[in-house]
Amino acid sequence: MTGDVHAPTRARRAAAAEVLAGLEDLLGDLGATYRDLHAHPELSGHERRTAEVVADALAAAGCEVTTGVGGHGVVGVLTSGDGPTVALRGDMDALPIREATGLPYASAVTHRRADGVDVPVMHACGHDLHTTCLLGAAHLLGAARHAWRGRVLLLAQPAEESVSGAKAMVADGVFRRFGRPVAILGQHATPAPAGLLLHRAGPLYAANANLEVRLHGTGGHGARPEGTVDPLAMGAYVVTRLQGIVAREVDPRQPAVVTVGSFHAGARPNVIGEEAVLEITTRAPDTSGVEALVAAVERVVHAEAAAAAAPRAPEVIVTEATRGLVNDPDVVARVRALHAAVLGEGAVAEQPEVRTTSEDFAELGAPGADGGSDEPIPLGFWFLGITPATVWQAAGGDSLTVRAAAVPGTHTPRFAPDPEPSLRAGVAALATAPLALLDPAAAAPAG
Ligand SMILES: [Zn+2]
Ligand SMILES: [Zn+2]
Repeated sequence: MTGDVHAPTRARRAAAAEVLAGLEDLLGDLGATYRDLHAHPELSGHERRTAEVVADALAAAGCEVTTGVGGHGVVGVLTSGDGPTVALRGDMDALPIREATGLPYASAVTHRRADGVDVPVMHACGHDLHTTCLLGAAHLLGAARHAWRGRVLLLAQPAEESVSGAKAMVADGVFRRFGRPVAILGQHATPAPAGLLLHRAGPLYAANANLEVRLHGTGGHGARPEGTVDPLAMGAYVVTRLQGIVAREVDPRQPAVVTVGSFHAGARPNVIGEEAVLEITTRAPDTSGVEALVAAVERVVHAEAAAAAAPRAPEVIVTEATRGLVNDPDVVARVRALHAAVLGEGAVAEQPEVRTTSEDFAELGAPGADGGSDEPIPLGFWFLGITPATVWQAAGGDSLTVRAAAVPGTHTPRFAPDPEPSLRAGVAALATAPLALLDPAAAAPAG
């Protein structure tokens, strides 16, 4: 990547080196913060304690701190003279999973739900790592303000797992109140060698839409089908016909998913019911791809209802939707080149494929997210490898994708990042990334 138009100038590399000067001394404290957050996970929308830890640490790093932004969200602002604004985001919430890592700092926390049931809670998605890296980046950037010009917004986001926290911070006017950034940057822990940074321009996480489909029939006696319109048979044809969308309508080079996750119809062998209900998830690299899948589902559903002579038209409702995470190629190229320049070419690799899972990061940059412009805010999001070297080497397979599937992944009870190399790389990545876009303070010539 070096040698192209995105290669960092000498002044940017010097600023990054200044920012990283304090990293090794900071790792001991950050390790303690990470173990503390890991042992005290909080579910989406309940990140009260985490937000307090974050607010205190951001204040200690020299930030102006605002709490309660979109729920338990916290915003820290670092300012150094005039220049561009860049936002860094870390998410704070955990999952209802019983931890089985056996780590000395494993979670034993339970959460009492409104119905009185206690559920186990675990940081099984690495958001404790993301939060700790955000605090580390704030500390390093705050201590080296002489090296850069502009503003850095540090966003500690709640409720990522319920894909509602980013939208809530936007709805609370985060960029109207704290300024529109030239880019929003963030990272996610992933099964890969601990410390490896995986970058990808363009689509990174799929867009999705979940649908509820209601098919209407005419019920009656199971022994006299001639007087009925059977919604169960209609639903079965819909399920079968939907398999043709990805197989026959989507460019085979593009990832796409249409999954029927539930199908409910009928109650007894000798009764034909009145309706069938299907729940469907669709995934594609971007929102327009998902819109095409949803339109195809609607077409098939209506056509099968017509073919069955349904007494009335079916209903197709979008129950949940998340925009895809599409990285800005220019932002990725700049950040990746700076990471390679200051952390070494071997610390950076290409993320091989789009993920069909979802992440609400992109909601922060959606058109209108700044409260005014319809221009989306450019995004730069990368993966941070967290798998211990011994575990990675013991995994079978010769490609990154195959090995990653063989080691404990996110959302599993044995997800256990290797703290020191993951923190060292994750803090360095997040602290230096904004310097690819901020103005370096030194007036060194380009090149
Ligand atoms: Zn997750
Ligand atoms: Zn996550």
